[in-house]
Amino acid sequence: MKIVIIGGGAAGLFAALNIKNKDNEVIILEKNDEVGKKILVTGNGRCNLWNEDMNTSKYYSSNKELLDSFIDKEIIPKTFERLDNYFEFKIKNGYYYPYSNKATTVRDVLVYECNRKGVQIITNYDVISIKKEDKFIINNDISCDKLIISTGGKSFEVTGSDGKMLDILKDLGHDIIKPLPSLVPLYADETYLNKWNGIRCDATVTSIIDGVNVRSEQGELQLTDYGVSGICVFNISREIAEALNEGRNVSVEINFINKEDIISYFKEHYENQTVHEILLKYFDKKLMKVLLDKMEINERAYFKSLTSKELSRLEKYLTQFNINITGHGDFNKAQVTQGGVSLEDVNPDTFESKKVKDLYLIGEVLDIDGICGGYNLGFAWMSATKVSDNIC
Ligand SMILES: Cc1cc2nc3c(=O)[nH]c(=O)nc-3n(C[C@H](O)[C@H](O)[C@H](O)COP(=O)(O)OP(=O)(O)OC[C@H]3O[C@@H](n4cnc5c(N)ncnc54)[C@H](O)[C@@H]3O)c2cc1C
Repeated sequence: MKIVIIGGGAAGLFAALNIKNKDNEVIILEKNDEVGKKILVTGNGRCNLWNEDMNTSKYYSSNKELLDSFIDKEIIPKTFERLDNYFEFKIKNGYYYPYSNKATTVRDVLVYECNRKGVQIITNYDVISIKKEDKFIINNDISCDKLIISTGGKSFEVTGSDGKMLDILKDLGHDIIKPLPSLVPLYADETYLNKWNGIRCDATVTSIIDGVNVRSEQGELQLTDYGVSGICVFNISREIAEALNEGRNVSVEINFINKEDIISYFKEHYENQTVHEILLKYFDKKLMKVLLDKMEINERAYFKSLTSKELSRLEKYLTQFNINITGHGDFNKAQVTQGGVSLEDVNPDTFESKKVKDLYLIGEVLDIDGICGGYNLGFAWMSATKVSDNIC
């Protein structure tokens, strides 16, 4: 049997090395001059390839009710067992990295194993057409019995994923959920942005869409001259990108001090100190200036002398600092793509298309995306594992 895999990213490489045996021919077609380019940029060059806490609550899809069948309980340990055969890990707070702490290791191990098993890798091969007759015919050039699509989403085009395959898949009868950026920075239009540019702090961020609190995340927040960024922002960006695309009203609320009843706490501990003395304990001076300007409180005033209106402004800007969100990073700033081939069109037990027999879809090309923490590569490995168990 001849199996062609279009796309030599994480999902395609992992599927290839798990499928190849002495009775089949496995070919990867990759449009770049090398495979696994995106793997190299993951995890800031360290590649966070798995997470100890792997479960469906870390994933999104426009078909949420189908997620459990695509990421079932058996596939998680099975996939990890296979990864464990190939990689040595370094684990930090449940986040898995290669032992070398270098993404190149992950790419190199996958390529080495593909070569060792006899997978044929053809680079500089851009697939622009797929026909299904008795067999699949690719670019009127290569034919095969079974075809796996692992061309990724639309994010970080420089690594090869441009979303053009989605048009081909649409022509083959699949429903495509509109691709949008996810895990992206958020843009605002406020005069104070250049004053807080470059500051990193711990905070809780909450997305508010049309006045309703949607999602909260705690972590390191990056304050920039265009708005806000950092992993906690990425993790709330999915619904925000969707809402902005629908023309809805979006803001982000920042809690700079994760403490219950901050006013009572200050009263108990710092009643005889000035506002300046208190804020100095918590904030970088640049951020302190932005907060004080917003609060309109004299920083030399003693805490005990603040009026009730001043106290409520102090509390508001420290724990519910609201920024109106005007936009988000484009696909080139997005770590992942939300949307893709509808899960309705794919059999969750095999990852075979319900529209085209012997065609399989894995990885980010599907309408499944995860939060930061190794979940997106996690899904690439899991879907590759499932298809490899079922294709031969
Ligand atoms: C900056 C950044 C950091 C990230 N960090 C992490 C992280 O630490 N942990 C994590 O879990 N996830 C991370 N991700 C997300 C993760 O990299 C992706 O979800 C994952 O790589 C998707 O794998 P894939 O194989 O489905 O697609 P891809 O890795 O995108 O691979 C698709 C391949 O298909 C090729 N291709 C596309 N179209 C064609 C065509 N027509 N013909 C031939 N070849 C084609 C592309 O060139 C590419 O090589 C990060 C992403 C980015 C951009």
